[in-house]
Amino acid sequence: MKIFEPHIHMYSRNTRDYAEMSTAGIRSLVEPGGFWLGYERKHPETCLEYFDHLLGFEHTRAEKAGINYHCTFALNPKEAHTPAIREAVMAELPKYLAHPLCCALGEVGYDVLDDIEEQVVLEQLELAKTMNLPVLVHTPHVEKAAGTARLIANCKDVGMDPDMVEIDHCTEETVQQVVDSGFWAGFTIYPVTKLSPERAVQVFKQYGTDRMFVNSSADWGPSDPLSVPKLAVMMLQAGFEYDAVQRLVWDNPVRFFAQSGRLQEQPLYAEAVA
Ligand SMILES: [Zn+2]
Repeated sequence: MKIFEPHIHMYSRNTRDYAEMSTAGIRSLVEPGGFWLGYERKHPETCLEYFDHLLGFEHTRAEKAGINYHCTFALNPKEAHTPAIREAVMAELPKYLAHPLCCALGEVGYDVLDDIEEQVVLEQLELAKTMNLPVLVHTPHVEKAAGTARLIANCKDVGMDPDMVEIDHCTEETVQQVVDSGFWAGFTIYPVTKLSPERAVQVFKQYGTDRMFVNSSADWGPSDPLSVPKLAVMMLQAGFEYDAVQRLVWDNPVRFFAQSGRLQEQPLYAEAVA
């Protein structure tokens, strides 16, 4: 099966991960910028050099493993609270978003759901709309349902086209409101937190797979860069049609990110699932 990994932080993974991902059928990936390093960055330049690292080096590691590389950029919600970082990243963001390897704005979202976070969410949504880029929306770990509802409202307030927005890290608690909103739904398959593969299979049995995609969101916490290929196998074992799984792990993310105009990848099926 041909696999598109739409959300993985390769910055925190090693070369062996790339080799194993390639062996498992992952042919393309998207690395969302705005990654939380696990501690407070102190200097704006650290954020911008991280962006430069993705564009200047990380894609070469992917390409050596036979994996096509794209990335996204945004201000991390936790770093919205550091004025010097917030101002520098927001000022430089349009330049990074204009790069040919960038296929979306993201991850944009909430951490503690306060007014300053909302202000930068709205500013970044406006920027994506102006630049005609899809948006990856990060839903928070705490107050997940309230945070998801607020982000959906933010997207509607800005007048985002539902085709251009993916609400990520959905769970059983939030999938219904995302489906009702008309935006794309993303599911992060994690071994310990977020959504287990078994729970994801149940969600897809109930809701189908239209306008949905799955990711590993692997970083340097407990996570698995092979979550997507493993879930594909589990779905086949659970009785899903091969074509339905193939659309979920390739066509859906390809159709979403191709809206940036910067993807060479093509869907395998002529039409999106009805
Ligand atoms: Zn992430």
